[in-house]
Amino acid sequence: MSYFRAILLMVKDIIIDVVGSFADGKTTLVRALTSESTLRHSEEKKRGITIRLGYAHFLLYKCDKCSSFSRKEKCEICGGKAELFYRVSIIDSPGHKTLMTIMLSGAPLVDGAVLVISANNKCPQPQTEEHLEALKIIGVKNIVVAQTKVDVVGPDRAKESHNEITEFLSKNGFENVAIIPVFAAQNINIPELLQHVGKFEPHVHEEGGGAQMLVVRSFDINKPGEEIKNLRGGVLGGGLKSGSISVGDEIVIYPGVFVKNSWKQLKTTVKNIQSEFGREKAVNRGLMIGLETSLDPSLARRDNLAGSLVVKPDNLPIFKSKISLNYSPLVEKEKNQFKKSIQMNEVVLVNVLASKILGTVTAISGDKVTLNLGNSFLPYYKGDKAIISRKVENVWVLAGAGTIYD
Ligand code: ZN
Repeated sequence: MSYFRAILLMVKDIIIDVVGSFADGKTTLVRALTSESTLRHSEEKKRGITIRLGYAHFLLYKCDKCSSFSRKEKCEICGGKAELFYRVSIIDSPGHKTLMTIMLSGAPLVDGAVLVISANNKCPQPQTEEHLEALKIIGVKNIVVAQTKVDVVGPDRAKESHNEITEFLSKNGFENVAIIPVFAAQNINIPELLQHVGKFEPHVHEEGGGAQMLVVRSFDINKPGEEIKNLRGGVLGGGLKSGSISVGDEIVIYPGVFVKNSWKQLKTTVKNIQSEFGREKAVNRGLMIGLETSLDPSLARRDNLAGSLVVKPDNLPIFKSKISLNYSPLVEKEKNQFKKSIQMNEVVLVNVLASKILGTVTAISGDKVTLNLGNSFLPYYKGDKAIISRKVENVWVLAGAGTIYD
C-alpha cells in the first residue's frame, strides 16, 4: 500500500449540517468556513462539464504540536505542522427540500450540526426548533452554536440572547453545548468554532445495515445534442446512511418508475463515484457523493430521482403501502399545539429515509399506530425510524416519531 493511500485511509469523512436562515448569516458563515461561496454550484452547473454536487466542503487539519484544528497544514494557532484529520462536507438547511425531508426522516446522514442563531431574533425561531427536535430524534449529539449579529445588538441583548439559547438547548436535552459569538465576515472566532467541529465524533451506525444511499438530487450531465456514443448515464447525488458503495457495484433504486399501475425498480451499475474532494473508488457514510450510473440519463434529469433509496441486490428493503409503528409523540407539542393525540382517520405526513408520503391512520392501539399510504409505496427496513408531522392550521408540524415494526 502506498504512503498516500495509507494516509487517505486514516482520514475520516464527516457531514455537518449548518442550520439557520440567510437572515441569520448562515451563508456568510459557510463562506467563512470554506472560504468560498455556497452559490458556486449554480455557476458550475451552467458549464455542466463534470459532476458538480454543490456542497460546500473543507479540509480540517490537526496540529501535531498543540492539537488544535485548522484549515491549513500550518496550524492557525501555533504555526506548527498539522496533519489532515477530517474531510468535511457541509449541507445547509433549510434550503433544499429533499435534504429537509431526510433531515426530518430520522436518518443519520449527518454527524453534527452548527446552529446559526442570530442575537437580534428571539430564540428559538420555529424552524430552528423543529430542526433541533429532528437532530435529537436522530441521535445527533455533536452540536455547536454560532451566535451571529452580536455586534449589531449591543451587550445587553447579546447576553439575553445567550440565555435564550442556553435555555432552548437545555429544554431539548442538549447540555454543555458551546455558544460561540462569531463575526464571520472578519473570520473572528471561526478558528474557535472549528475546534468544536474537530471534536465531532462520526456517527456510528449499527452493523448489518447494508448499503443504503439516500438520493437528494439527480441529474443528466450531458450537453444538449450530445452524440449517443458519448452519452453519460444518469447521476444520483446524495449520501450513504450505512454500508459502502464501490465503482462497479450493481445497485437497485427504489421506488423506481411507475409503469402500468405498479412500481418497477431501476437496476443499474455504478460507473464512477465523485465527491467534492475528487474521484472516489469506494465510499462509506460521511460523504456527499455523486454516482454516475448506466441509467438512461433522461430518467435522472431535473431531480427526477430525488427522494429515492439506493441499495444493493443482496439487501432489498420491504416495499409496502401500509406500515405499523411504535409511536411516541412530542408530549409538550401534543399538549400545546395539537390539543389532542393522534386520531383515527387523521391524515399525517410520514418521513422515512428519503421518502415523504401522506398516510391515513387506520388503527391505534396503545402506542401502536398503523398508516395506510394509499397508492404510494414506501421502501423501508424493519426498525427504521418514521417521523410524523401533523397539520395545525394548514401547516405541517413535527409531532413525533416511531420505529416501524411491520
Ligand atoms: Zn498548533
